Amino acid sequence: MSNAYLRFWGVRGSHSAPFASHLGIGGNTSCVEIRVDDHILLCDAGTGLINFGNEMMKQKDIREMLIILTHYHWDHICGLPFFVPAFVPDWNISIFGPGIKAANIEEYVSAQMKAPFFPVGTETWLAKINYLPPPQEHCFSYGPMNISYDNVHHPGITYGYRIQVRGKTILYISDNECLYLDKSIKLKYGEVSPEEQVLYDRMNKEEYASEIKLIQGADILIHDAQYTPEDYQKKRGWGHSCFIDTVNTAIDAGVKELYLYHHDPNYDDREMDSIYQHAKDIIKQRKASLICHLAVEGMIIDLE
Ligand SMILES: [Zn+2]
Ligand SMILES: [Zn+2]
Repeated sequence: MSNAYLRFWGVRGSHSAPFASHLGIGGNTSCVEIRVDDHILLCDAGTGLINFGNEMMKQKDIREMLIILTHYHWDHICGLPFFVPAFVPDWNISIFGPGIKAANIEEYVSAQMKAPFFPVGTETWLAKINYLPPPQEHCFSYGPMNISYDNVHHPGITYGYRIQVRGKTILYISDNECLYLDKSIKLKYGEVSPEEQVLYDRMNKEEYASEIKLIQGADILIHDAQYTPEDYQKKRGWGHSCFIDTVNTAIDAGVKELYLYHHDPNYDDREMDSIYQHAKDIIKQRKASLICHLAVEGMIIDLE
């Protein structure tokens, strides 16, 4: 394997989906590893982290890693209570996520391991755990990786991460509702005065420009694409994207490669395949150069 790669350990959103009908895509929740030489960055700590931790215990060279969390919804942190390296001395694990100070991160991560929800708390972690304080200017570095982040459209405070490494820009945006304002405005458009419509149009334009800016320059964009249009209608405002909006926004922003991610746990392999075919049709119809993939558990992308 190359010295620089990205690996999907979990690709589901909301909850794990360990059903035989779903395992072609994978059943574990959000976790992506970016490895460059001995530096390991993990994006989110869903159930995919458990398998990653077990693999790490089989080797002796690396004892350090950084976990960056987009937010603290269960599907993004529920691998931590079962993450074996955290329970082993001589490991050094840094954790970063939303919070106004480092203690907030500790508080949120620990909450899921408090009685009566879990038998042991984070005080039983024997590894050295460093909760990172929020840096100035929303950016910091880890080994050869430069990491920055922005708020995205998802309930509570949720970050989207931009990681620059080996001359590539990788965007990890697991939970984000594309065109959120556009869709809300369209619902109300007929009910407001022409003056208000002008205002709506201006707000909408500014908002879309900021959505484009968020993902512009991405060589690799890993983005929420949770719903079909039918399910999106029922779950508007829940903070997840219809895959069609994800594809169109990625095309508009000039993204090179898109990985549809945070798959709905209700969709089996067949449904996921139909989503993928539809995504490719959109790209063809728009004559766009975007390369689109479904994120699949176990998939490895070479970053060399
Ligand atoms: Zn999620
Ligand atoms: Zn969430």
